Amino acid sequence: MATIFSKIIAGEIPSYKVAEDDKFYAFLDINPLVKGHTLVVPKKEVDYIFDLEDDELAEMHVFAKSVALAIQKAFPCKKVGEAVIGLEVPHAHIHLIPIQNESDMLFSNPKLSLTSDEFSSIAQSINKIWADSKK
Ligand code: AMP
Repeated sequence: MATIFSKIIAGEIPSYKVAEDDKFYAFLDINPLVKGHTLVVPKKEVDYIFDLEDDELAEMHVFAKSVALAIQKAFPCKKVGEAVIGLEVPHAHIHLIPIQNESDMLFSNPKLSLTSDEFSSIAQSINKIWADSKK
């Protein structure tokens, strides 16, 4: 059975898309720790990120880097932190989180409650910068 992230990639479930190429898809985490919290997933359905082939893992990180740079421009921060957990959704994904402090990365923190308009506006602002970086 397809994972929820495969359904998102296929457009069967809505998402706030941030970036996409032929192998990877990036969209806003629906329970964000901070504004700009983004997930990067491979279109290939693999549960555990370290089951990806070496070249796939490397390409995923290069794609994540391009998204992280766009996030940082849209949401000025000290750094964009990267985390991999994957205990909830069995489809490999990287969390990209704009951070000012180490505590911004704590998954036990309360999540932001954003409106659909806010999610859309965040996704559009990151996507515009990301798309411009690819020109
Ligand atoms: P984990 O597998 O532990 O890395 O957590 C999965 C992450 O995916 C959580 O941060 C969820 O908020 C996020 N998530 C789950 N379903 C969706 C969805 N439909 N759209 C966006 N993010 C989601």
